[in-house]
Amino acid sequence: MYHSRGVRGHSAVRDTIIVAPPPHGVYNGPVAATRPPRRIGIIGGGQLGLMLVLAGKPLGFEFCVLDRQEDAPAASLADRFVMGDLYDREALAQVTSWADVTTYEIEHTDTAALHALAEAGAVIRPHPSLLALINDKLEQKRALDRAGIPVPEFRVEPAGRFPCVQKLRHGGYDGRGVTVLRDPDDVPLEGASFYEELVDIRKELAVLVARRASGEAAAYPVTEMEFDARANICSRVSIPARLGERVAGRARDIAVAVVEELDAVGIVAVELFWTAADEILVNEIAPRPHNSGHVTIEACETSQFEQHLRAICDLPLGSTALREPAAMVNLLGGPGSSGAPDWAGAVSGLMLPGVHVHWYNKSEVRPFRKMGHVTITAGSVEEAWRQADAVEALTWVKGEQQ
Ligand code: ADP
Repeated sequence: MYHSRGVRGHSAVRDTIIVAPPPHGVYNGPVAATRPPRRIGIIGGGQLGLMLVLAGKPLGFEFCVLDRQEDAPAASLADRFVMGDLYDREALAQVTSWADVTTYEIEHTDTAALHALAEAGAVIRPHPSLLALINDKLEQKRALDRAGIPVPEFRVEPAGRFPCVQKLRHGGYDGRGVTVLRDPDDVPLEGASFYEELVDIRKELAVLVARRASGEAAAYPVTEMEFDARANICSRVSIPARLGERVAGRARDIAVAVVEELDAVGIVAVELFWTAADEILVNEIAPRPHNSGHVTIEACETSQFEQHLRAICDLPLGSTALREPAAMVNLLGGPGSSGAPDWAGAVSGLMLPGVHVHWYNKSEVRPFRKMGHVTITAGSVEEAWRQADAVEALTWVKGEQQ
């Protein structure tokens, strides 16, 4: 049934190969009769691009990376590199015209240009219209709310009730563009904004969901995120999250509903709040591999990066099952650091068992910049968190000019 002419080179239809249906679940689409995508374009050459390239190489994918900086983490490992601004239409077109499928590892790019390229036939996944929605945090929240997804209460008019959380609609990331206003004297952020209730958060969670173009979806075990209070940036993650099955099941169900509602393709990270009142609320989503999923490289059967490539190419998804519990510590630039980073501090935790160091080879360190991460696998998630404390005590990132 799934065999076709030309598979073994006996026919003129040389591009035809077998693409087997996924071994599990419902198979929604016809068996692909054409060559599966192999050339991947990546908009952005940061650490997420780097880890996508590393995950795709064993499968035989080829990559073209676009970044403004020649020494971006993914640049030297890619098969092709386009140096250019992520908002440069010409540069974007160079990537999409080479690639079978183009994806992005950062939200800050020209969604209108990508939209036009998609209209002209380029395969861009997730679709640029999803990226445009995500890039306006207010529209994102409205779409989730309309779909009946539980979100924190939000409103558009300037804060009248305190405390509240002010969020810029555009351009924020890693906590920039978010501020808590506790009373009318607090200085608000400048720019188009909206306001949310200040949620009493018990834990911040994330669920990664992979979804193929043909509809098959798979959720990963729930992860738990901790934030560095000084910079409001994710500092540690564990998989699984330390919570009961009931809450974990609810979180996964909501995350899958979000991804299906948005008709997303690829890996999507759904960031959630588990509240003191035992609710699960969706904070925001990221339509790309995510910091909370770096642990999947060692902890799960299929890493989020390989899974993203499978999903955007409409190949069968891999198992999301946990292989071993793990915790991850982000290697953030130390306060006041600058200049070339000192690698020695990143590898100083290597004597501990179960430690895996990932160093992104960024040429400059800045305070709280993500320079690398360390994953610790262990027999239990509690043990992984204990080892994460030890790793944090041993490792450091500073620059030569500190
Ligand atoms: P970013 O996209 O910059 O990461 P987020 O919307 O995720 O911005 O907010 C950053 C952090 O601010 C969250 O991880 C959470 O710790 C806190 N935060 C955001 N919204 C709320 C809220 N409504 N109530 C309480 N804390 C919040």
